[in-house]
Amino acid sequence: MSSSAPDPVALSKALIERPSVTPADEGALDVLIEFLEPLGFEIHDLTLEDPAGEPTRNVYARLGTEGPNFCWAGHTDVVPPGDPADWTTDPFTPDMRDGKLYGRGAADMKCAVACMMTATSRFLADKGPDFGGSISFLITGDEEGDATNGTKKVLDWLQARGETIDACVVGEPTNPENVSDMIKIGRRGSMNVWLTVDGVQGHSAYPHLADNPIHKMLRLLSSLTEVPLDEGSDHFQPSTLQVTTLDVGNAATNVIPAKAEARVNIRFNDLHSSASVEKLLRDRLNQAGGGYDMRVRVSGESFLTPPGQLSEVVAGAVEAVTGTAPELSTTGGTSDARFIKDHCPVVELGLINLTAHKVDEFSTLDDIAALDKIYTRVLEGFFESSS
Ligand SMILES: [Zn+2]
Repeated sequence: MSSSAPDPVALSKALIERPSVTPADEGALDVLIEFLEPLGFEIHDLTLEDPAGEPTRNVYARLGTEGPNFCWAGHTDVVPPGDPADWTTDPFTPDMRDGKLYGRGAADMKCAVACMMTATSRFLADKGPDFGGSISFLITGDEEGDATNGTKKVLDWLQARGETIDACVVGEPTNPENVSDMIKIGRRGSMNVWLTVDGVQGHSAYPHLADNPIHKMLRLLSSLTEVPLDEGSDHFQPSTLQVTTLDVGNAATNVIPAKAEARVNIRFNDLHSSASVEKLLRDRLNQAGGGYDMRVRVSGESFLTPPGQLSEVVAGAVEAVTGTAPELSTTGGTSDARFIKDHCPVVELGLINLTAHKVDEFSTLDDIAALDKIYTRVLEGFFESSS
């Protein structure tokens, strides 16, 4: 590697300096554009608007016109830093100490975006323009917010212009402790359920003149929690169902309230769709006596990229650089991979998630250097195995 090779730490710092708190960009995506344009990428600077969300800047950049089209996906927006006084140094002034780079977004996921850029540049310097396909970047400024005008909209835009991506790596921080720990080949689905039970208000000394909605609600909730949703599947842990609140708002000791409300959060695996979970819940509630009102909001369906070319390439890259084969996992929360999975195989691999969204967020310089190498191996492995 020559001394003029692009430095992922310098690029990480340039990104962290832009205070791109969702959905503000503050020039963060310019860092990406200014790096990719000289490499020959065609840049699509897309500010997307939808009344349902804040206008958001996104970038889709592509080098090459041939398939397969390998896509790096991620985001340059960050969550708010909270009170900057709680940080040892300013969250938007990158600071290096003890072998670590500190700043908001260091773990989630500006340093990973920087590694995507430097790995791509190194790969192109090594292979030249005839590497056997296309490389693209789909980087959004709205992943941490409601994601209305982010990745999903860009994917719709790609589809409308007849452009396909064939494989995608998302740089979310997937690892608990070491960059060799874990890649994600799927995610659980997530949904929230609001349950309401109406009763008849009355004096607690004369319950025969009232109808207690709490008693009914407890029977209904028990019917949901008593039996597990499933036992897990080949690549997923058992689905989980947790009652997150039960509200009556009753300040009196001698009043039977008129109404009880509860909320339930469900993380479901690939044995279910949100529709099949909803049906299962309704069946159980009806069997337990019914008499409820239920509202459901789905944040994402479960998905799995079955172990195959992409996961082998990514896991192989991790092992080649670190000497350790990562676990292929489906744990954790949702990410934009939930949108990408409708278009192509998608695997997630990034830095360490220990300090993501926290005060004094950091990535170690060693981990950044390792991810830079791993991403380079991913490109090499992908185009070798595709040719
Ligand atoms: Zn993230």
